[in-house]
Amino acid sequence: MVIVMEKHAPEEKIESVVAELIKRGFDVHRSTGSGQTVLGVVGEVASVDPREFEVMDGVQEAVRVSEPYKLSSRTFKRDNTVVKVNGCSIGGRDVVVMAGPCTIENEKQLFGTAEAVARAGAKVLRGGAYKPRTSPYAFQGMGIDGLKLLQAAGKEFGMATVSEVMEISQIETMMDYVDILQVGARNMQNFNLLAAVGQVRKPILLKRGMAATIQEWLLAAEYIMSGGNYQVILCERGIRTFDTYLRNTLDLAAIPVVQKLSHLPIIVDPSHATGRRDKVMPMARASVAAGADGLLIEVHVEPDKALCDGPQSLYPEQFVELMDELRIIVPAVRRTLS
Ligand code: PEP
Ligand code: MN
Repeated sequence: MVIVMEKHAPEEKIESVVAELIKRGFDVHRSTGSGQTVLGVVGEVASVDPREFEVMDGVQEAVRVSEPYKLSSRTFKRDNTVVKVNGCSIGGRDVVVMAGPCTIENEKQLFGTAEAVARAGAKVLRGGAYKPRTSPYAFQGMGIDGLKLLQAAGKEFGMATVSEVMEISQIETMMDYVDILQVGARNMQNFNLLAAVGQVRKPILLKRGMAATIQEWLLAAEYIMSGGNYQVILCERGIRTFDTYLRNTLDLAAIPVVQKLSHLPIIVDPSHATGRRDKVMPMARASVAAGADGLLIEVHVEPDKALCDGPQSLYPEQFVELMDELRIIVPAVRRTLS
């Protein structure tokens, strides 16, 4: 259930509604936008008659939310959520580009790539230190040494950082080194991990599971938000379909669908969506044209020598070219390139 308070309702009135809800055993999540407070009520609300709250002082309306996700839904929060990290805002007017290698391999590779993407205009540096590899024999990531390099490269080139967390025990260490924690496609329904990152106070980049419906994805976001962490960025990275030509099928329509259903920012990862660098640039352009709030792109100084995902990693020159193209597309959709 959502309780919409009257515009500029005084704090005492809001608090007395909150107190009543808590007395009845519900969890209450507050959001305020344009002078109006909305209370998201979660728990066993089925037996409650919303009119009992509608008659309370300062309440404009109380409505049941028909979607199974509540806090991530637009019914709960009408204004877009803007996630702020190191001076960039994700989900506002700016389109934010995140780029870097699939995995951190060594200092030379990371710093070389970081310098190239920063110079071209990327605002967030990506790089995996813990890698979810399909084969146990493939390179599994540098772990904490990789995180240290990522932090140093982010500082050196003035970028925020994003890296994947694979299990709960890694969260604490990652908090010291990384600005955005990524939950990968394979972990989108690892509910214990989702609940654990719901307890931290850092932005979470939540990738769509490769076989997840949009509703399941928003429910995964709900797990994080119900723990009190509202800084969730959704990332469409392609889903599995009957077509096997590319690594995945990029569901671009998910962008306007999510924007209607949810207030959370949505970015696109065209690298994992396609698996081939010649397809990454057109899909990146299309994503921004379709309204994405940002992009997550794999770039490598020497893709031919990459330990992971080389064929889908852009050469630095291609990334420069893509950023030049985005400088034309972004204003055409009334956005700004951050
Ligand atoms: C990645 O970003 O490197 C990654 C493993 O992505 P995904 O979880 O989308 O497969
Ligand atoms: Mn990758």
